[in-house]
Amino acid sequence: MNLFRQLPKIDKLIADDNFKDFNKNILADLAKNYIANLREKIKNNQIDTIDYSKIIKDLKKEYTQTLKPSLTPVINATGITVHTNLGRSLIDESIYDSAKDVVCNYCNLEYNLDKGKRGDRYHHTTQALRELLNCEDALIVNNNAAAVFLILNTFAQNRETIVSRGELVEIGGSFRVPDVMKASGSKLVEVGTTNKTKLADYENAITENTAMLMKVHKSNYTIEGFTQEAEFSEISALAKEQNLIDYYDLGSAYIPRLSWGLSEAEPSIFKLLEENPSLISFSGDKLFGSVQAGIIIGKKELIAKLKKNQILRMFRVDKVTLTLLEQTILAYKLKKYEAIPTISMLNATVEELAKRAKSLAKNFTIEYEIKESKTYVGGGTMPNREIPTIVIALNGDAVTLEKFFRANNIIGRIEDDKFLLDMRSIRTKDFNQILKTVNEQVPPSS
Ligand SMILES: *Cc1c(COP(=O)(O)O)cnc(C)c1O
Repeated sequence: MNLFRQLPKIDKLIADDNFKDFNKNILADLAKNYIANLREKIKNNQIDTIDYSKIIKDLKKEYTQTLKPSLTPVINATGITVHTNLGRSLIDESIYDSAKDVVCNYCNLEYNLDKGKRGDRYHHTTQALRELLNCEDALIVNNNAAAVFLILNTFAQNRETIVSRGELVEIGGSFRVPDVMKASGSKLVEVGTTNKTKLADYENAITENTAMLMKVHKSNYTIEGFTQEAEFSEISALAKEQNLIDYYDLGSAYIPRLSWGLSEAEPSIFKLLEENPSLISFSGDKLFGSVQAGIIIGKKELIAKLKKNQILRMFRVDKVTLTLLEQTILAYKLKKYEAIPTISMLNATVEELAKRAKSLAKNFTIEYEIKESKTYVGGGTMPNREIPTIVIALNGDAVTLEKFFRANNIIGRIEDDKFLLDMRSIRTKDFNQILKTVNEQVPPSS
């Protein structure tokens, strides 16, 4: 029973000099738990001494752990620029700074400053998007999955939506086109086969209960060989002829030309808009290079109907999203592509990456090799499109190195048994931390 008496009193313990600058409420909770645990251990004869300095040390560690934010920055050395697990697109600091004033102050989010009365939350970005894309109208929701749901629910609930069998895709993170359609209340009518869908297949499936002809960008898979699909322009024309809505879930949209044949391989939003389609939607944080959002563009009267759907309230974006998005759109209008990290990283030349690799690696104290390699866009876009890149291959056991760098919040990749730092997604502002990690801490390879 002696040990019980040796246990420090909570109030004395938290008053210890070691905890001078600690938050006493948080510390008291931790200490209570800790002492309760010790009490249990004494009861079960699991310890035979009370080590006061160990208690102090453990509590300090627990305290630091408790206050450490779970969400933390990492360095993306995978080469995948639109990496869904690492937060997709980055927001440039210049854009973040411009948005800061709006977020840290009251703002005119839903207030019309000219008229002195209630205004429209969506007006701000809509205006900017109209000018950038020359579209009739636009609406912003939480993400593109919400956009798809809202559009189907508004125009095709209890009615039929015709989609090609080859486009019933699953996009990472449990977005399955057939499931979203079902949840929206629209009846899915599949046409064509996995590899071939003709315009006539859509045409033949139209009934008096059809509301919409939908095209879905296959995004993360491709089919090769004996294939055929109807162009959106054809689908669009057919829909017009039959008085139906045509809708393209485009997934990703890019504004400036992309290198490496990406622009040629992906549908251009500007081209698609020339056909005056009913509705198109895409993500804000894929190739558009901005914040997580679903961007819906299209006909004014249709957007007005979307705005009247009660469900929009559930998908409502806040001022943080809207101001970041608006700032990105402004940067596009000014052709300030350097303020869109996704674009500048994707379009960087191989020569530029090689130059950066040299300047980063020249002070490495471990052996390395700079070489050419291949990477991909990521984020479920263009799975087959190889992008040339430059990597720094580090000497040593790849698995050990990968683990070690990850413990220092640097995420690289392993290829041919080598641990690689891929320059395509590394920014120059990451250099110091990489250099420090490499030189001060890399364990000697066995
Ligand atoms: C990525 C994608 C989605 C989902 O978009 P989120 O913004 O991630 O919700 C939906 N459809 C297609 C075709 C996509 O590529």
